[in-house]
Amino acid sequence: MTTYSGPVFDMAVQQFEVIADHLSVPQDARARLLIPKRAITVSCPIHRDDGTTAVFEGYRVQHHLTLGPTKGGTRFAASVDLGEVAALAIWMSWKCALTGLPYGGAKGGISVDPSNLSRRELEALSRRYMQEMIPFVGPHTDVMAPDMGTNEQVMAWFMDTYSMYQGRTVTEIVTGKPVSAGGTLGRREATGRGVAHLTRRVMNEQGINLNHATAAVQGFGNVGSIAALELHHMGVKVIAVSDHTGALYCASGLNIPELVVHAATHGSLSGYSSELAFDPQEVLTLSCDVLVPAAMERVIDAAVATKLRCRIVAEGANGPTTPEADLVLTQRQNEIFLIPDILCNSGGVVVSYFEWVQDLQQLFWEEEEVVRREYQILDRAFDRMVARASRDKVFNRTAAMAIGVERVRGAKNTRGLFP
Ligand code: GLU
Repeated sequence: MTTYSGPVFDMAVQQFEVIADHLSVPQDARARLLIPKRAITVSCPIHRDDGTTAVFEGYRVQHHLTLGPTKGGTRFAASVDLGEVAALAIWMSWKCALTGLPYGGAKGGISVDPSNLSRRELEALSRRYMQEMIPFVGPHTDVMAPDMGTNEQVMAWFMDTYSMYQGRTVTEIVTGKPVSAGGTLGRREATGRGVAHLTRRVMNEQGINLNHATAAVQGFGNVGSIAALELHHMGVKVIAVSDHTGALYCASGLNIPELVVHAATHGSLSGYSSELAFDPQEVLTLSCDVLVPAAMERVIDAAVATKLRCRIVAEGANGPTTPEADLVLTQRQNEIFLIPDILCNSGGVVVSYFEWVQDLQQLFWEEEEVVRREYQILDRAFDRMVARASRDKVFNRTAAMAIGVERVRGAKNTRGLFP
């Protein structure tokens, strides 16, 4: 276990141990389930616009190959290191297994703040990263997608670079591409839509009237902004949103469609309004019906968990809640319903799966079909989680992860240990 380190990796290990204890997985079977199969580190040199050369470190971790190719996003962020990427790859495995996709988990990233790069530099870095990964990825080996700091354009550059080396167009090498480059309708919205869909379901089941409900959303990237927009369209008042530049609050509800346009044109929430400015720290602990953490890992620690004043936590981000906070939320589960990350944000990878299938078949679906099938998969996974939580009398996260871990474990046991 010495290859990987850091708080995010430790968190993935701690969470796994809880599940392994719950499932009575023998000690000697645990490492086989947890330790990533492969980890690749590459150096990515590029020419800067000023004529100098800069080298960025890139990673890709492929957690397990038991159920099919590995699948997961690529993150461009200053925080990226091997431990974080490994944790995110492990979480992808439980997510794909919970939703029944034929994938293991993977994640990749580059330690870089993309806002410090020009568009040309970003393209050079994206292409060099993919070129360095060619020996290790493939449509039936490992399929990348967007994550924090990357978008459709980066996926198009990945696909183009891979295709240039193959001498033919290989759209199925990555998902989350623009529709004009072999992407599927409904992928860009998929994660946020899924978050809002599951949130609506919980609100309905709890008898919360959507037209009287309020929400606070942390993070206004592809996940947070679409989740906020969908909730807004459902009649929910989104009273607070935040991103890395600050927060906005309005008790009567923010104009989310306008904010989405602002963020798309200016790159962030900054500059929208000084009157509505708010303390970003307080977004999480506002009194509201729905809290959507959709930014980054470990933002809800035990202290924040104690102070939460919402009825539903819908985890749009991966790993927003620490294991210590989970203990608090377990105590508070009668007051606060948790939709855990591996279920709540799984709409993204579910529709990535649809994109991969469509690319392999060269047969493309209508958007209604994409959305219908996405919700069907999310609803089934939700039903399984709820049934499991009540059967075993466990916390929602434990139930969701147990289903995921169990599926991977079952496949490993059935296939046996080679040689
Ligand atoms: N990065 C997203 C996630 O964390 C999407 C992964 C994918 O579509 O493969 O789930």
